Amino acid sequence: MAKILIINTGGTISMVSSGRGYVPNGELFRERLLSMDLLKQAPMPQWVLTQTEPLLDSSNMTVSDWNRIGQLIADNYEAFDGFVILHGTDTMAYTASALSFMLEGLDKPVILTGSQIPLSQLRSDGRDNLIDSLLIAAEGRVREVCIFFGGKLLRGNRATKYSADELIAFVSPNYPPLAEAGITVSYNKTLLRGRQEVPFRLQLLDEIPIGVIKVFPGIQFSLFEQILTEKLKGIVIETFGAGNIPQGGSELLPLVRKALANGTVITVCSQCPQGTVTLGAYETSSALKDAGAVSGRDLTTEAAVAKLYYLFSKGYAADDVKRLMETDLCGEESA
Ligand code: ASP
Repeated sequence: MAKILIINTGGTISMVSSGRGYVPNGELFRERLLSMDLLKQAPMPQWVLTQTEPLLDSSNMTVSDWNRIGQLIADNYEAFDGFVILHGTDTMAYTASALSFMLEGLDKPVILTGSQIPLSQLRSDGRDNLIDSLLIAAEGRVREVCIFFGGKLLRGNRATKYSADELIAFVSPNYPPLAEAGITVSYNKTLLRGRQEVPFRLQLLDEIPIGVIKVFPGIQFSLFEQILTEKLKGIVIETFGAGNIPQGGSELLPLVRKALANGTVITVCSQCPQGTVTLGAYETSSALKDAGAVSGRDLTTEAAVAKLYYLFSKGYAADDVKRLMETDLCGEESA
């Protein structure tokens, strides 16, 4: 029988009401899980629950929390067949993206899930999300970091939170679901990652100074001069459409040039959830290209941020980071 480690990091699934809104409660969550007979019946795998301390609303997740989760997986890698990570929905796509890079050579399922309604409540979506995640992890067909939510198994570094209140909270606009849970779980076999050749290794992340700027009509780029210092290692610019910025961006270009001279890697992503950045397709993006920005192609902002953390943590020089930002490493961007 497969053995799965459940790592509870917090989020709505393990929350209870308090005078100041929902907060995680590990003790009650453990009791509830242990009292769920369904989780002990065939075909449920054998599972062990561990909870990180303190449990977090995922809005409070930091790089050191990602490292803690990664370390837990690495420490238990040989002893378990798969991992289910319970996590808040707000930053689940960031954590999934980060882990997809950190867990190099991953050859086992790592599935993040959670819920929009606490497990302690009658209509909780957490029950089905947890049961399906455990079954998928136990089946062992997946060898990558995924998000399972609302009946869909998504590649973690392609997913993004889409709804603040619907039970299907995540989408993966540039990559089809890896599996869908209907009467049975049907896998999209051609999309699953194959067996990994390189041995498993954990790359911990450093707290690299990076930033995200979202452009909007009327943006005053000069206001960003303060943050574009030599301390900033990487920045993701969320542009319009295929990578376009307002042409009054004559203000932006000196800043971009200064940032590049400082060694800051500028990655251009799109505000459109679906499609890809093509620098130079329009005059309004040519200037970014000429100034040396790199295309984030069809990366989500979550994956672009996580990838910058990862590449700089590996010690790559800015030129290598630029090259690798445009190279698919683990299914995060289209080849
Ligand atoms: N604020 C919660 C969190 O991200 C939301 C959720 O879990 O759905 O932890």
